[in-house]
Amino acid sequence: MAQATIIGSGPNGLAAAVSLARAGYTVRVLEGADTIGGGARTRESTLPGFQHDVCSAVHPAALSSPFFQAFGLDRRIEWIRPEASYAHPLDDGRAAVAWRDIDRTAAQLGVDGGAWLSRLRPLSRHIEGVVDFTGNQLLRIPRDPVTAVRYALRMLDQGTPLAAAAFRTEEAAALMSGVVAHANSPQPSLAGAAAGLLLAALGHAGGWPYPRGGAQRIADAMVADLEHHGGTIEVSTPVSDLATLDWGDPQRGDLLLLNTSPRLALTHPDVPAGYARSVRSYRYGPGAAKVDFALDGPVPWTNFDVAGAPTVHLGGTRAEVWASENAVAAGHVSDRPYVLAVQPSVLDDSRAPAGKAVFWAYIHVPPGSDLDPTELITAQVERYAPGFRDLILAHHAVPASSREAINPTEIGGDISGGVFDIRQALRRPALSPAPWRTPMHGVYLASASTPPGPSVNGMAGWHAARTALRDAGELAALSDLFG
Ligand SMILES: Cc1cc2nc3c(=O)[nH]c(=O)nc-3n(C[C@H](O)[C@H](O)[C@H](O)COP(=O)(O)OP(=O)(O)OC[C@H]3O[C@@H](n4cnc5c(N)ncnc54)[C@H](O)[C@@H]3O)c2cc1C
Repeated sequence: MAQATIIGSGPNGLAAAVSLARAGYTVRVLEGADTIGGGARTRESTLPGFQHDVCSAVHPAALSSPFFQAFGLDRRIEWIRPEASYAHPLDDGRAAVAWRDIDRTAAQLGVDGGAWLSRLRPLSRHIEGVVDFTGNQLLRIPRDPVTAVRYALRMLDQGTPLAAAAFRTEEAAALMSGVVAHANSPQPSLAGAAAGLLLAALGHAGGWPYPRGGAQRIADAMVADLEHHGGTIEVSTPVSDLATLDWGDPQRGDLLLLNTSPRLALTHPDVPAGYARSVRSYRYGPGAAKVDFALDGPVPWTNFDVAGAPTVHLGGTRAEVWASENAVAAGHVSDRPYVLAVQPSVLDDSRAPAGKAVFWAYIHVPPGSDLDPTELITAQVERYAPGFRDLILAHHAVPASSREAINPTEIGGDISGGVFDIRQALRRPALSPAPWRTPMHGVYLASASTPPGPSVNGMAGWHAARTALRDAGELAALSDLFG
């Protein structure tokens, strides 16, 4: 029986592992960290009983992922499906909320309700078409070309200076800018709009769910399936040199999949010069500086709707959010930065002792920054929730400069696996109709540094496994393995 060695146990590594184990390979996963799951891990980083997500916290991309749908993630974990996908507080107690129900959202946005509906309803109604377009290599004909064209037109509308004229109210403009700013790119930008529109459309399709118990549940579900199909995982096993790794014999059909930075591929003895050039010129971008807070109770938001929304975008008006993101692109951090915050305890009482709460927040920072973001984040939360500071029982800060030590894929603290701009959406990390395949026999890339890029969706892992199975002349549709 051929063997498959997978380096890294992030969501994409595990997606590839599960797929290949079900296809009959003897699968061995080698994980450098001492726990499994990469970007889908949860741990007590502050105080006993407080379960913090190490990386990802909210999972619209997992819910809508064709891989996870075939895998049956829905059956294997308990999703919490908030009514409010994300909220954006403004000064004076005002706030805008993207409700799962798009009509409720439009009604609250007043004069901008129509503008919101016209931009997002066609995308959320045809979400499969949007996910098909964005979840694959872009160099292919989309299954739903009409939706793909609509999405591309909306990218122009939100990713160029036209965006400044899209809404009349501060509320609607801020709400859109907060979701677009997830992309960690200059504003406005086409790539930012691409990521933001996908997330915004998902917010009105399946919503922005998260697993009860934390992101670790997603990894645990895949580990259980992998082990059921005979696969094994070794933790605390970092791999730094492919030349000395025994991963079998590619002539016999053995496979090596890298759920790592593509840079690890450069250590393969047969890497061709052209491919090495592509990997070396692949760019990494700004970082994330994150804080886990253990709180003595829920955050005292001035606005009641914000108190009920698990995901909150802080940073004020669109102008402030854009200024914050553009400052990062220029190498600085704004005094009032855009903050991505998640308060899982709002709907999940398993994450903290009774009456207490966990709170997860990060800001964007220049690559490699060693800024401790605790004070900047605390001040931004205080702005909309006076009294927050007094609730902090403990906190754990991770500057961008420390992220690579936690996960070597996060180069300089870049949590996207490489800059996500239009060029690198196409050339990720090499320009190819199947960028998961490397020129080295039997070696594949299965990480967020390949299409479709960042987020917990398992699709890069599935694409890598499928490409390997096709190269081996084996069946390779999701229904072949998960039907
Ligand atoms: C702070 C933060 C917040 C995020 N929030 C969200 C969110 O809310 N929702 C969402 O969908 N996504 C979010 N993301 C992004 C998401 O976590 C990633 O896009 C996703 O985890 C990428 O999956 P992956 O399998 O490609 O890589 P990773 O999850 O990075 O996993 C790679 C694994 O490989 C291991 N590894 C790397 N190099 C080696 C080596 N040389 N030897 C052995 N092992 C190695 C690592 O230890 C790691 O376990 C967030 C990320 C971060 C960091």
